[in-house]
Amino acid sequence: MKGFAMKKIGEVGWVEKDKPDIGAYDALVRPIALAPCTSDIHTVWEGAVGERTDMILGHEALGVVDEVGSEVKDFKPGDKVIVPAITPDWYSDAALRGFSSQTGGALGGWKFSNFKDGVFGEYFHVNVADWNLAHLPEGMPLEAAVMIPDMLTTGFMGAENSNIPLGGSVAVLGIGPVGLSAIAGAELQGAGRIFAVGTRPKCVEVAKAYGATDIVSYKDGNTADQIVEATGGEGVDSVVVAGGGPDILIDAINAARAGSVVSNINYFGTGDTLPIPREGWGVGMADINIATGLCPGGRVRMERLADIVKYGRMDPALMATHVFHGFDKVEEALMLMKDKPRDLIKPVVIVDENL
Ligand code: NAD
Ligand code: ZN
Repeated sequence: MKGFAMKKIGEVGWVEKDKPDIGAYDALVRPIALAPCTSDIHTVWEGAVGERTDMILGHEALGVVDEVGSEVKDFKPGDKVIVPAITPDWYSDAALRGFSSQTGGALGGWKFSNFKDGVFGEYFHVNVADWNLAHLPEGMPLEAAVMIPDMLTTGFMGAENSNIPLGGSVAVLGIGPVGLSAIAGAELQGAGRIFAVGTRPKCVEVAKAYGATDIVSYKDGNTADQIVEATGGEGVDSVVVAGGGPDILIDAINAARAGSVVSNINYFGTGDTLPIPREGWGVGMADINIATGLCPGGRVRMERLADIVKYGRMDPALMATHVFHGFDKVEEALMLMKDKPRDLIKPVVIVDENL
């Protein structure tokens, strides 16, 4: 089979590999829709998680089950599935403690395109299929459903972790697909006022569609100053960080008021340390907490997110600005994600509508 891979830091290309073997609880899946992630860009071009050799990329997929192990109960060949980006080892200490994305160490639930071949292959392996796959609801548009495995689960987690009070104010810093999903999450959680911090017109349009009430351009002046001024000198109840470099945490904390949670979902690809503003953080005593998280995977999470889409609570397809057809297009889609033209939110590859 072929796959599109990270050949080494800074280099991608097509590779030929054997089809993966599966164990008794696992599944072999073929992709029907795929999307590249900004995390793949950090991984390849910043070498952010270290060197990798010929590792197939991609962790956002819908698929069709090709084969299942003898102990798999709820899935069979031919079933269409949502494949979460994060596929934890559920029988583990971290999962039992409630942190399933961190099984086997920090970020250990993130296997695809981190330390295992990802979903940009003609076939890919899914561990513990009954717990790590969800059935794809019939008739759900693929461009919408393919946002569930990572964009929705990550962005919504950003909003959940930021503890937005009902009617409270939230600022989302960075409005690519992850931040836009956080805006939709904030809206679903009952935020009163939602600041979207970003500039690209297409992203701003979707931010408004997802519930943003105020648009702040970080190019028009200091982000935190603008938010603090707009809130009568107070700052916001919650902040979600979904873009920018290390200095974004300075904006985030300076925009937060006492009791706020700064919820980071950004992947910091470079640098050894991250700056925190000493005064803005009340010299360390401001009652401003910082939350972090890797997006939740697992079957129940996927089923719940699918219900949000199925019952029309938000439409993730608005983010699918560039839709490609055919497996070979994953290369073009990934390079588009790297180059980020101004009209891009998220590229999607429909591998085969008829599978
Ligand atoms: P993106 O690049 O499309 O969006 C980020 C946006 O932030 C861009 O539009 C950029 O212009 C903007 N930005 C840059 N500097 C800024 C500033 N100072 N203030 C405000 N905005 C600024 O990326 P994305 O695909 O939306 O992903 C966002 C981040 O989330 C990436 O780092 C990605 O790797 C990470 N991620 C994390 C998880 C997780 O589980 N925590 C999952 C998926 C992606
Ligand atoms: Zn991702």
